[in-house]
Amino acid sequence: MAFEAQTRALAAQLGPEVVRTDGAARFAASLDNARLSFLPDAVLLPRDEDDVAAILKAANMEKVPVTIRGGGTATTGSASPVLGGWALDLSGWKNLHIDAETGIAYVQPGVVTATLAAEAEKLGWFYPPDPSSSKYSTIGGNIACNAGGMRGARYGVTRDYVMALEGFLPTGEWVRWGGDLRKWAAGYNMRDLWVGSEGTLGVVTGAVLRLIAKPAARATFLCAFADEFKALEASRAIFAARLPASIMEFMDRASVACTAAEGLVLPLKLEGATPAVLLVELDGDAEKVEAATKSFEELVSGRTVALRRASSPAEAELLWEVRRRCSKAMFRLADGKLNEDIVIPPRAQEELLAFTQDLHARYGLATPVFGHAGDGNFHVHVMYRAGDSGDRAKAEKAVTEIMEKVVALGGAISGEHGIGLAKQPFLSLQLSPAEIAAMQAVKKALDPNGILNPGKIFGAFRIWEHEKTSVKLPWD
Ligand SMILES: Cc1cc2nc3c(=O)[nH]c(=O)nc-3n(C[C@H](O)[C@H](O)[C@H](O)COP(=O)(O)OP(=O)(O)OC[C@H]3O[C@@H](n4cnc5c(N)ncnc54)[C@H](O)[C@@H]3O)c2cc1C
Repeated sequence: MAFEAQTRALAAQLGPEVVRTDGAARFAASLDNARLSFLPDAVLLPRDEDDVAAILKAANMEKVPVTIRGGGTATTGSASPVLGGWALDLSGWKNLHIDAETGIAYVQPGVVTATLAAEAEKLGWFYPPDPSSSKYSTIGGNIACNAGGMRGARYGVTRDYVMALEGFLPTGEWVRWGGDLRKWAAGYNMRDLWVGSEGTLGVVTGAVLRLIAKPAARATFLCAFADEFKALEASRAIFAARLPASIMEFMDRASVACTAAEGLVLPLKLEGATPAVLLVELDGDAEKVEAATKSFEELVSGRTVALRRASSPAEAELLWEVRRRCSKAMFRLADGKLNEDIVIPPRAQEELLAFTQDLHARYGLATPVFGHAGDGNFHVHVMYRAGDSGDRAKAEKAVTEIMEKVVALGGAISGEHGIGLAKQPFLSLQLSPAEIAAMQAVKKALDPNGILNPGKIFGAFRIWEHEKTSVKLPWD
């Protein structure tokens, strides 16, 4: 343990209930969904803000790395304490209050995303950000990653619902950015700088979130197409027709085949080949949804090989479950997976898809694609045999080609997962040296001792050179 003496001193100050050093706690806090395990010296469970301030003060004095964690569902290694030190676990901070009249939620960072959504619904409000991990991810982690989800096309991402944040600068001073106000123009927008900063610029200990009115009606559709290109063309036609689509999820034929092999069979009567699929939800007031349904069915029926409207909320939920389980189903293709979350402008979607299919042919590695067609945020995968060095080298080349192509097409290398450890090799494809230097200058100004989540975003980590830990996580 690199920081043994500092950990002992902190335990003497705050007590063993705050500073845990047992092996089980340290292992659980050593990784996230990327399964890159780096043991912290201790897991810290602060009772209140005084504890957080004391921890940050000690970390700055002794230069101990501090890695914040919520649900540990990050897919990039951003919650892994890559340099050891202390894992600051805020998943137990679960207070939640919703003002039923104003639709404003006052949330501690450990509140689970699905809990906030469910509590909001009980009061007739709606919290739209819905990452597929929502039963396990926390609001603190969602804010730090600017999490998106299936409803991004119409309702945006976590950032769009954050009114104010409070917590600690890396140096330990308490700050509050914004208020429970619909407008705020006093000084720099530090609130938005914290959103998406992957736990490197501040510790969120409280958030004020905006809720919106819950849509009165929803209609959910399963649309099957002969191939991916027909599905993507239809998604653009739906958008161009200005239909109120809140969700437009895409699954290519390989993804559909993998989920079916897992027993998640889509309710379609089809003869012949596996289709590519769009899952579409229209929402709004009941009359509008019925009118839009008619236009929607007219628009897509000529393009599909099968079209079905979910007959009940339970059937709709089954469709979303198929989509949520896609990521895990990919392991039917190989035991190694590079999972990207690129964003591509509508004009370039087909070109990118053709490119991934060409890579499949050239490298002999499966490249399944699924994701959010509504906002162009696609999960592109490269599957490989993790124990085969030839496969690993090919996967590295293939994923690098994908990232180069994404940038050349005017896209982004990450739309919702962030950089963490996993995407570090690609940051310089996206950002110029001046842009990276500006970001690093912000980091240096807020965290002069470099204690908060060091080794993330700007490093030289190469994920394919690290062995993943084999462990069953709660969402597997
Ligand atoms: C099955 C599955 C499906 C997923 N689907 C989606 C999806 O559809 N959309 C999407 O956007 N993501 C998705 N993800 C990724 C992940 O769930 C999100 O990034 C989520 O926001 C992480 O939340 P968490 O609480 O688990 O954070 P953690 O994994 O614990 O931490 C993530 C980052 O946030 C920082 N952090 C955590 N809490 C705080 C805090 N209080 N203050 C400051 N920084 C903090 C950490 O240091 C770390 O850098 C998925 C993951 C899985 C496993």
